Amino acid sequence: MSVTGLPPYDPQNIFARILRGEIPCKRVHEDGFALAFHDINPQAPVHVLVIPKGAYVSAVDFGATANDAEIAGFWRAVAATAKALGLEEGGYRILSNIGPDGGQEVPHFHVHIFGGKRLGRMVA
Ligand code: 5GP
Repeated sequence: MSVTGLPPYDPQNIFARILRGEIPCKRVHEDGFALAFHDINPQAPVHVLVIPKGAYVSAVDFGATANDAEIAGFWRAVAATAKALGLEEGGYRILSNIGPDGGQEVPHFHVHIFGGKRLGRMVA
């Protein structure tokens, strides 16, 4: 299901293939709900992606259709990932692109974690 006008979930998308182990990744954290790995094209000193294990196209799709345990598990995995990366004290930025106007390239819901330096003020 997609609630943002995006096509339905494509099980061949690159993150689905990473979840199935068909494509390697540099793993930071993994649990029953989520997988976190370094972005292949980092935009900050630390740039990690956190993806749920379930099949959701976008953040809005995730919020509308995932169950409470999946939603809580996902956000706990984001926090665990930031802690594993040593970002807790200094802070970091999370971002999720939604749909073509939002710049979403991979149609499996993901959160970017950016950190490792004093990030500038966010402007579109
Ligand atoms: P989006 O634009 O969809 O929010 O972000 C997708 C992100 O996935 C991009 O930052 C891109 O660099 C990253 N990415 C795309 N393909 C791969 C891949 O095969 N491996 C990893 N680790 N990251 C990828």
